[in-house]
Amino acid sequence: MTGARDMEIAVLVLAGDGIGPEVTEQALRVLRTVAAQGKRSFRFESALIGGAAIDAEGTPLPEGTRRAALASDAVLLGAVGDNRFNALPPSQRPEAGLLAIRAALGGFANLRPAFAYPALAANSPLRAEVIEGADILFVRELLGGLYFGQPRQWDRAGSAGEEAAWNTMRYTRGEIERVARIAFELAAGRRGKLCSVDKANVLEVSQLWRAVVNEVAREYPGVTVEHEYVDACAMHLMNNPRRFDVVLTENLFGDILSDEAGVIAGSLGVLPSATIGGKVNLYEPVHGSAPDIAGQGIANPIGAMLTAAMLLRHSAGMGEEALAVEQAVRTVLEGGARTRDLARAGEEAITTDEMGVRVNDALIGLLRAGMEERRLAGTTR
Ligand code: NAD
Repeated sequence: MTGARDMEIAVLVLAGDGIGPEVTEQALRVLRTVAAQGKRSFRFESALIGGAAIDAEGTPLPEGTRRAALASDAVLLGAVGDNRFNALPPSQRPEAGLLAIRAALGGFANLRPAFAYPALAANSPLRAEVIEGADILFVRELLGGLYFGQPRQWDRAGSAGEEAAWNTMRYTRGEIERVARIAFELAAGRRGKLCSVDKANVLEVSQLWRAVVNEVAREYPGVTVEHEYVDACAMHLMNNPRRFDVVLTENLFGDILSDEAGVIAGSLGVLPSATIGGKVNLYEPVHGSAPDIAGQGIANPIGAMLTAAMLLRHSAGMGEEALAVEQAVRTVLEGGARTRDLARAGEEAITTDEMGVRVNDALIGLLRAGMEERRLAGTTR
């Protein structure tokens, strides 16, 4: 029974709400182009999540969607969130579907690249010479730390004499080891630099974090490790982002730092993400459902298309094709194509669909050139 699964990659597509379906269509466009090469076969299935699932089935994560996700090789998600449901309690809103699918899939390493496109340098609030060449991959631990640690409580009654509330930043050795190993593996495949972020001058949990990261480092002699306090890292990201390659952080620090580093790219619309390490990897652009622009065909699909590239790299073993998608995006941006979020005064904006077509056309050219190169290499040998 393993044969079919080995050969075919089953992708569950959860387009979701708002601009989710619009940008996911473009992500699928590049995946279909890669599939058409025939190196690996892909099977795409769709299911409902978020507001779309509430409308159809009365719940933001129907059981059928959860089961289909767990039976797939990768889940590609658009975005969830719909203002029509704002009055519902949090557990019944579209966003609850997202939290539930993340929990069901169990990924503990959230990967978020922050890349400075030379063509978009003027879109970043940071000076072009500061961000030039910046290419960072955040590896954020996703299932531990303050967001999940026990005890956690809001003691409204003030049982100790005054109202109080607390959360616990807790990590086990195993939780640190497994995310550190992923970060080291990724650093070894990139520029061989890993910066581990903590607050070890103040927090015991950070002291354990640092000790375990140093232990794991011994398995990766080709990777240079440095440790930075989270406050210093926040500053260095803004005044010298080029110094970073892979940044490994615990959950809360990673949440804050990866958002901060998002300004390097120039628009929320171009940021991809992947959550790996669990039962099934989950791929989603960083942005939300953007109800303010949904249905107008003007959303930027690049974040979703780069998310598809991450899927190719981390779930399909197609690193070369992932690079080709990333290169296609660069080529199209260098050629001046801009969706509305990227267009500056005097620049014409193209539609979501047009951006998708241009990136896909560039991808087709790159894949053909790669095939031709391999053919020539084969004949000259
Ligand atoms: P958002 O990311 O949807 O939008 C923030 C701003 O960025 C908006 O002005 C929007 O127009 C713009 N924007 C976002 N993506 C864009 C794109 N691809 N192209 C062009 N412009 C883009 O965040 P928000 O407004 O805070 O939230 C809207 C809804 O999305 C809420 O319901 C929220 O809960 C949900 N949300 C979902 C996710 C997710 O599904 N992963 C993430 C964040 C927010």
